Amino acid sequence: MPKYKLEYIWLDGYTPVPNLRGKTKIVSEAPNSVEDCPMWGFDGSSTQQAEGSSSDCMLKPVSLYPDAARDNGFLVMCEVMMPDGTTPHPSNHRATILDDEEAWFGLEQEYFLFQNKRPLGWPKDGYPDPQGEYYTGVGYANVGDLAREIVEQHLELCLEAGINHEGINAEVAKGQWEFQIFAKGSKKCADDIWIARYLLMRLCEGYKVDVEWHCKPFLGDWNGSGMHCNFSTKFMREVGGKDYFLKLMDAFDKNKEEHIAAYGPDNHLRLTGLHETQSIDKFSWGIADRGASIRVPHSFVNNDYKGYLEDRRPNSQGDPYQICSRVLKTVAEVPTA
Ligand code: ADP
Ligand code: MN
Ligand code: MN
Ligand code: MN
Repeated sequence: MPKYKLEYIWLDGYTPVPNLRGKTKIVSEAPNSVEDCPMWGFDGSSTQQAEGSSSDCMLKPVSLYPDAARDNGFLVMCEVMMPDGTTPHPSNHRATILDDEEAWFGLEQEYFLFQNKRPLGWPKDGYPDPQGEYYTGVGYANVGDLAREIVEQHLELCLEAGINHEGINAEVAKGQWEFQIFAKGSKKCADDIWIARYLLMRLCEGYKVDVEWHCKPFLGDWNGSGMHCNFSTKFMREVGGKDYFLKLMDAFDKNKEEHIAAYGPDNHLRLTGLHETQSIDKFSWGIADRGASIRVPHSFVNNDYKGYLEDRRPNSQGDPYQICSRVLKTVAEVPTA
């Protein structure tokens, strides 16, 4: 009889960004769904989630994925709960996301692959050629010799896990990459992003490569990394309209500081008004405008202001739970009648 390996994965209590943590539970029967995965516990005093004198925190499984890298393996995304098992821990931002099966998110995760504190493919000293041919580029001069192997394997692992990748591409800076994940349901896309991050970091261990999630690893004329948040609700897709859209944009303007607070650390280094960004203290929207805070796709306008919008401010290091939570909170402030 085979044994099954369930990797319980959660977010620790570090700020401003949590770290991924994981440990393996061995069970005798394969889970068919997340309901088959029991609650578990861990030592919260080692993850900045509890005092040593009362250190237990609970892991509540919320999402289950096959793990193609391990025989009989599964990945179990968990929420962290207080010892009573029912109260969300203060570090549990997933629990703050409004439940809405009809909310859809598409997150575009950008990141750098680093080796010895330098992006893959960069010379040991100094800088590579200026940006220009790296974006969606091909060839050793543009992507180096190792990055694509990692990126391809990561894509395969994510697809085998059932994550709904929509695409991958080499990005504007050398050593910078992107994957896009789309999912229906207010929490699913954020779960999938965390699992995809986990799979990438674990894969890179064997290559002595680190994933640099920071939004601006290099100052100067090098693109930073974002995590554009494309979002829609049932109302936005099916009713919408210009009046509603303008009210929605007013709400986003009014809450701009709350949004920036949820969109990842050090964003002032990235949201400068250059490199296809709006500056951090301004809110703007624009049709097909990559220099706006919110880009309105042509399709949205052509479809009587129905469809999805792209908030370009969230950064690569942001917690997708906090990002999706904030977006839906602001959307919920705008009356639909
Ligand atoms: P770009 O780089 O031009 O911004 P991408 O193709 O990388 O565009 O990302 C666009 C994202 O928008 C995709 O992840 C896609 O899944 C998402 N998306 C498309 N339609 C919707 C929708 N109705 N609701 C939410 N997200 C959507
Ligand atoms: Mn993109
Ligand atoms: Mn991009
Ligand atoms: Mn985008």
